[in-house]
Amino acid sequence: MVVQANGTSSSGKFILKFDEFFNIINGGLIGTDETRRGINPSTLEENADVPVSTKKDVDDAVRFAREAAEVWAETPITQRQQAVTKFADALRSLKDDFAKMLVKEQGKPLIFAKAEVDNAVRWLEEQAKLPFPEDMIEDTDEKQVVTRYMPLGVALGIVPWNFPIMLACGKIAPALISGNALIIKPSPFTPYCGLKLVELAQEFFPPGVIQALSGDDNLGPWLTAHPLIDKVSFTGSTMTGKRVMESCSKTLKRVTLELGGNDPAIVCSEVNIKETAPKIAQLALLNSGQICIAIKRVYVHSSIYEEFLAEVVKAAKSLLVGDGFEENIFMGPIQNAMQYERVTGFIEDSKKQKWKVAMGGEIAISSNGHRTGYFINPTVIDNPPDDSRIVMEEPFGPIFPLLRWDNENDVINRANDTLMGLGASVWSNDLVQASRIAKRLKAGSVWVNTHTEIQPDAAFGGYKQSGLGAEWGVQGLKSYCNTQTLYLKKK
Ligand code: NAD
Repeated sequence: MVVQANGTSSSGKFILKFDEFFNIINGGLIGTDETRRGINPSTLEENADVPVSTKKDVDDAVRFAREAAEVWAETPITQRQQAVTKFADALRSLKDDFAKMLVKEQGKPLIFAKAEVDNAVRWLEEQAKLPFPEDMIEDTDEKQVVTRYMPLGVALGIVPWNFPIMLACGKIAPALISGNALIIKPSPFTPYCGLKLVELAQEFFPPGVIQALSGDDNLGPWLTAHPLIDKVSFTGSTMTGKRVMESCSKTLKRVTLELGGNDPAIVCSEVNIKETAPKIAQLALLNSGQICIAIKRVYVHSSIYEEFLAEVVKAAKSLLVGDGFEENIFMGPIQNAMQYERVTGFIEDSKKQKWKVAMGGEIAISSNGHRTGYFINPTVIDNPPDDSRIVMEEPFGPIFPLLRWDNENDVINRANDTLMGLGASVWSNDLVQASRIAKRLKAGSVWVNTHTEIQPDAAFGGYKQSGLGAEWGVQGLKSYCNTQTLYLKKK
């Protein structure tokens, strides 16, 4: 089934219909015989139908991407950057529509959904401004040696369900600016905004340059195994990331893996407790804890532990849980049933092991009185053992432990004692101490007196099993390129 593009209004304001969703293949809106539906995690109502792509859809999209990539690679980079900037403008003009759809499919509060669209726009715009010169290695009378960065060809962006707009745009910008064609595969849990983003993008890019396929659990493996895809940029869990890498190894596809985290925050004795504790609570519970770089373990100096715990609990209690369309909500539901089971499993385990639950530990009733959605109240575990599951693993939900520390060396070792290495932070008014600790933390992003703050012109990646390679910044552009060194003999 092929449907006409929705088009634009004469005023230049873009009109997208948010009740019909299609694959985007070679510039067309393409339906499939089979469809499926995502669930609104606040109401458990079904959202609209989305396509279930077949192997033929995959073959078609890859074929068109290959053709488009040849032409797009020859398009001057300034033109590619301009197209991305115009796409960003269009997304900004549809911020409210995208934000509402995001609340319906992902569950996050509207204010944070709007912030996600703002960030997505920023990630598009700022990456379009990055300098991307060739490197002149030598330029003498005899010879010139230049290293340049040539597009790989066809890239695939696999997106998770926690930030479906922002993380898709985080792949669209570098892939297209560096001259590749890109296929976006949204998560089956949150396919709607990803499909609409790519539909909107058709106004600004030639057919086939940016396409989107939605589907079931078959789709990811079909795509990563496809021999004519050159690069996979994957964001998701470590377990899936390993499968993606294994599949990509068959044809030596380039891979960037942005995987799970288990971020520690080390709180030193000199902090202002009343100011710091609420920040820590919010940075652990933002997006209902479903952020790869949320704070997941909080190590608090023994001398302030009790007071700090009390302030964290007080702050967490003030954060309202509910449907993202209600007023003043800080935390929406867990995004899907599978994740809800996983998070409640951590709560059950903590209770079974008889760890002290400082607050929470129960299923939340939404502030509107309904009990329908996948709501969980913030849960704080008081000083569980270092080898407990809640310390060792990433729950990816609104539950986190506070742990005591006394010795600086010891706490650094404990913070680093994990298979993950995505983010880590130190909180102290003594910047000498904070910097000393920060330098020894084994993570791709390290913060002092903040956490989770990222920016589009800075490389983002993980140590250890939190990832491979980096996205964003100039390094992100290069990750979509072959490195080619040209040796030009002048005499
Ligand atoms: P997931 O690994 O279950 O799914 C991510 C994506 O991979 C989805 O689009 C899914 O359909 C697809 N997929 C699943 N199996 C596949 C396969 N065999 N081959 C190809 N694709 C496949 O992850 P999730 O549950 O959606 O996201 C949560 C996880 O993502 C958490 O661990 C979180 O820390 C991590 N995450 C990491 C970052 C980062 O930048 N490092 C950002 C956000 C989320």
